[in-house]
Amino acid sequence: MSPNLQTPPKPVLFLVLDGIRPDVMRSAIRDGDAPALGAIAERGEARWDAVSVFPSITPAATAAIATGEPPSGTGILGHAWYDENEDEIVVYGAKTETVISTGPIKVLHNNVWRMNRDDLIAPTIFESLDDLGVDAACVHFPVRRGPHEHPVRMKTVEGYLKGSRYLSPSVSGPKEYFLGDLFYSTEFGTNGRNGNGGFQRAVGINDEYAAEVGARLVAEKTTPFNLVYFFHGDKVAHHKGIAAQRRHVTKLDGFVSHIMDAAGGVDEFLAENAVIAVSDHGHTPLLPRRRFVNLARVKGYKVSLGSRASFAAGADVVAVPNGRAALLYLRDASKSAGVADTLALRRGVDLASWREDGWVVVRRVGREMRFKPGGGATDRYGDSWEISGDHRALGIEVSDEAVHYGDYPDALSRLWGCLASSRSGDVVLSASPGYTFGEVSGGYHAASDHGSLHREDSEVFSIACGVRAPEKITEVAPTILAHFIEGEKGDVSPSSVAEGNVR
Ligand SMILES: [Zn+2]
Repeated sequence: MSPNLQTPPKPVLFLVLDGIRPDVMRSAIRDGDAPALGAIAERGEARWDAVSVFPSITPAATAAIATGEPPSGTGILGHAWYDENEDEIVVYGAKTETVISTGPIKVLHNNVWRMNRDDLIAPTIFESLDDLGVDAACVHFPVRRGPHEHPVRMKTVEGYLKGSRYLSPSVSGPKEYFLGDLFYSTEFGTNGRNGNGGFQRAVGINDEYAAEVGARLVAEKTTPFNLVYFFHGDKVAHHKGIAAQRRHVTKLDGFVSHIMDAAGGVDEFLAENAVIAVSDHGHTPLLPRRRFVNLARVKGYKVSLGSRASFAAGADVVAVPNGRAALLYLRDASKSAGVADTLALRRGVDLASWREDGWVVVRRVGREMRFKPGGGATDRYGDSWEISGDHRALGIEVSDEAVHYGDYPDALSRLWGCLASSRSGDVVLSASPGYTFGEVSGGYHAASDHGSLHREDSEVFSIACGVRAPEKITEVAPTILAHFIEGEKGDVSPSSVAEGNVR
């Protein structure tokens, strides 16, 4: 093992395409509607069954991507969770754009400041790369903690800073950090530098701007690692459905093409750079009617629900919906099985899960199983488990000590990676396809949602050239770190490129 000093590792462009389903991306590439992303897949490799975390929801998933840890390791459980110490619901908001255009200043604070600074308990890829002496850039990605301070650039926000208990004059990030008009470490002249984006215009946070900054970073070779995040494809699916998302991929591909053109086009770009593109979660279409599962009433228990939910008024359960997942915090955790039993029968609830004596227990359609790490049965990811009860509760088959997943990919590790967190609900719910628990605000999406353990919102695409395509989103950060540590060793070699790997 001698370090390869002759060939320094290629710069890495890392693209996160929020919420794009793997079948949507695959069909867009197959039909020629995504030639730039198709070129990456064809010359490198593509996985159409890579897996998100549980809950399969953006803050949890982006924190997992940025750190390589599941929610139990990052401390970021979802859009919202109940903070036992403060007796309050912490809301990060659905998306940065939504938060900033519609949300109160506290949500902006939680999303931009609190999540990274206070709640995220794992080191980020930006911090780990800095330890290796590798500078990085982050465009719009919500998890971006790093060693460099970036001042707020927008005058209207500077106004809020005076005398507010929320926000602060700067955030920490990688060497280069861009978030619309709020933060920009380099003046490329393409943003509303006087803060004229305004809150109603999402302070200039949009995918077009992200693509432009990405192109400038690639052209100027400012930093060896560039993360560019595109979020609009998730919003398109929420509001208009999967077919609309499929049409949107063409536009997304144009952004990717724009970035690669900054290096002279696809061939030149891929000759000089490694690239990974992943989505953070999938999407499940919702029923046109009666898709909302209201957790306000649970027979036999007093429930507190909403952005001010608390145990203060004598509630038994604080319920925190997270799209197609829900976190239920109990005053008395010994009642977990009872609450789970009651809710598992509810229309729209697919499964309920809770902790019991060192096990995680799962109840689905009258079936029950329990599991914990460390037994003799091994899954395709190399994790081993002790399992008892009816495996069909999680659609699992076990033969010759091998665990085979069905409709709930990587279910054991993902459930464990939620429930093992002290910030998880005592009981967690996953919705049936077609249903949603909505958001803390009480609203719910029109066409499609995500968050569940089911494959529809759990599977993601992963395409890469010059590095291995990760099998799960928690493998992204380790893959990128290994690339910079090991250089060209073990990369996809040019001779294997001709075969392609896109099916
Ligand atoms: Zn979403």
